[in-house]
Amino acid sequence: MNNIYLIQASDAYGPNKFLPLAIAYQWCYGKNDSWNLVDTLIEKPVPSEYVADMIDPVNVVMSSYIWNWEYNKQLATEVKRVYPDCVIVTGGPQIDKRDKEFFDKYPYFDVAVHGEGENAMKEILARPIGDYDDIVHTQTRTHMPKPAMRRKSIADIPSPILEGFYEPIMAKYPKDTMWQVTWESLRGCPYHCAFCDIGDSYWNKLTLFDMERCRQEIEWMGKNKIEYVSVCDSNWGLLKRDVELTQMVLDTKEKYGYPMWFDATWAKNNVDRNFDIALMNKKAPVNIFKGVTFAMQSFNDTTLVASERFNINEEQVAEYLEKYREEDIPTYSELIWPMPEETYDSLKNNVQKLIDLGQDSYLMIHPLVITYNATMGDSKYQDTYGMGVKEIPLDTFYLRDTDMEKYIFEYTGAVVSTRTADWNTVLQGFMFSWVSILMYYYGFGHYLAKYLSKQGIREVDFFEDLRKWIVDNPDTLLYSEYNATEQHHIDTYYNQKLWGRKVHGEDDIYWEYKGASACILHDNKEQYSKELVMFLKECYNIKYAEEAVSLNLAMTRDKTQQYPFVKITNKEVANDMLGINSDTLLIDHYDKEYIDPQLWYQKAYHWDRKSRYWRCTAQANDK
Ligand code: SF4
Repeated sequence: MNNIYLIQASDAYGPNKFLPLAIAYQWCYGKNDSWNLVDTLIEKPVPSEYVADMIDPVNVVMSSYIWNWEYNKQLATEVKRVYPDCVIVTGGPQIDKRDKEFFDKYPYFDVAVHGEGENAMKEILARPIGDYDDIVHTQTRTHMPKPAMRRKSIADIPSPILEGFYEPIMAKYPKDTMWQVTWESLRGCPYHCAFCDIGDSYWNKLTLFDMERCRQEIEWMGKNKIEYVSVCDSNWGLLKRDVELTQMVLDTKEKYGYPMWFDATWAKNNVDRNFDIALMNKKAPVNIFKGVTFAMQSFNDTTLVASERFNINEEQVAEYLEKYREEDIPTYSELIWPMPEETYDSLKNNVQKLIDLGQDSYLMIHPLVITYNATMGDSKYQDTYGMGVKEIPLDTFYLRDTDMEKYIFEYTGAVVSTRTADWNTVLQGFMFSWVSILMYYYGFGHYLAKYLSKQGIREVDFFEDLRKWIVDNPDTLLYSEYNATEQHHIDTYYNQKLWGRKVHGEDDIYWEYKGASACILHDNKEQYSKELVMFLKECYNIKYAEEAVSLNLAMTRDKTQQYPFVKITNKEVANDMLGINSDTLLIDHYDKEYIDPQLWYQKAYHWDRKSRYWRCTAQANDK
């Protein structure tokens, strides 16, 4: 028998370990009796150390995507150095199906599989070593395949879970390892978003695994105490059966206490079914979802056309955001910047639109990154929309220096300019995003924005005026936060420096920038509040600036404050800001458990930020 190694490497985050899906399918479908599976690698050990422990590898198969591509290339180089005759096969979304020069660029690979890999893998493992030309979907130095065709059915692909593929992997780790499994009930997506790999026509049809298989897999997750299920389905809630599958997961968690979390990408256009699913989760005795996404990406018509994105209509968004609010179910929205045809003004309009539609919980504005097989990965598309793309490091947020010792950094293509936004505009857009999210969705100006909107000042005008005021006032704490954030963006986009910023000494994690500034503003509230009052007086000359700032900050969870507490304020401010007609308020927060002071920052501005941890409640205290 020949020795084979399977590689689907991922970064380690604390005690979590990741059970791979793609490589598992390849093996479970493709294996035959000529092969001895020696190891499945799920982490990123130093390549030379891993290769030193290998035993006569004849075939090494690597699943490649942006989070392990550099690692795979270095591991493949090392394997070839020590075992020049070993065949190295790679596949996955990172393999550019258009690239005829693939093997010139990456000479350590022998075979590259395009699209779904199971049939190719079966054939590769069945053929004599090296005889790989003319295999479906398979590129070699001497053979470029025809465009890959999707499988008509996936029913014949065995379940890695039910085949026992994960047991030997799990047996190598301590019993208290927190396992994350990647899982899918179907493949494909009916939409065509140009920024997404799955938007390619190749993935347009849905293929489904049967319900009984899914049920047994979910049961396994419960029995095996799976902490986190990373669901690969592109649109949870798209099919009616997703309701039934959700019920299975809820029942399983009720029975076994696991899986703890079920992280699904919510369907874009099935808001009614999504709401039913979220409500089921809320009413169940256990909770498996952290919130519901409204991923809009943009509201700008020309951008939506350019990116082939079709959003649900705005009335529906408003109606369902209201329903979620009534049920107190957290939702969050996503935008992407800088999308093709987007301008600085249209970015501001996107944020305002979300606020107007009622998105009060959380917003993420992701930088636009390019993957090879997405429509936007095509150079013709990039030329049409004047897109400038630079290689930048993949984000390293929330890692520590100790996580990055001997770390092999991963990179991705990021858009730095378009024909409607040059780099300075793109950077300004990042900074506008920083101000608006820090203010509205981390709470530092959330209620103030509501108060100002009662005075006729739109939320985004407040954020933009504040952004300009910060730039004009270099002696302020806000400026130093702004400047640090801006410089980090420049360094990452132009000097390939890592993402993230430490704020609590050398041993700190690398915070995402809004979280970093949130920690600083929280710890310097007095200074921050003085600056905000100054800004309000200079820019708007509003009545009750001090009272408005003070009440806004009282509504943000403070690490040292005992809850509840009584807050005396101005009745007019309380009314305009909170809709409470009283000058004496009882401010409270649901979380009264002791938590280590350093971990508190992570809870408030990292783990629980999307569920609005920052937000206190208020009621009249007229006793
Ligand atoms: S972004 Fe989502 S909806 Fe759009 S193509 Fe990709 S998976 Fe489908």
